[in-house]
Amino acid sequence: MESYENLLKKAISEIPESASNKERFESPKIISIIQGNKTIIQNFTQICDQLSRKPLHLQKYLLRELAAPGEVFKSSLKIGSTIKKEKLEQKLESYINTFVLCNECNRPDTKLEKDEKGIIRKKCMACGTIVVVK
Ligand SMILES: [Zn+2]
Repeated sequence: MESYENLLKKAISEIPESASNKERFESPKIISIIQGNKTIIQNFTQICDQLSRKPLHLQKYLLRELAAPGEVFKSSLKIGSTIKKEKLEQKLESYINTFVLCNECNRPDTKLEKDEKGIIRKKCMACGTIVVVK
């Protein structure tokens, strides 16, 4: 039997570099274009993949925040309004802060869990912190 200390040391040494450094999480870059009176986020589903979030969840959040209609088409989100990229970035940033990053350790390794009352909790897989987000 290995001692607890040894197991702990071993576990720590096995954590890959990227997980152990505390660098700030890098938000996905938005690729957007304006077409007529519409704004298209061309890499929308990629952003969702990077954040491990369902497209529908981010879509609902963005459209509510931007007070605009919109729909997902293939890998893009089409928004029925002209919106500057800075504003999109701002909204994505606040989504990430609320629904993706852990409030304690700031890592993006979180999961959203919805209970039967519709309360959504953000659970951090890295440090175990649970926060009610809605
Ligand atoms: Zn955490």
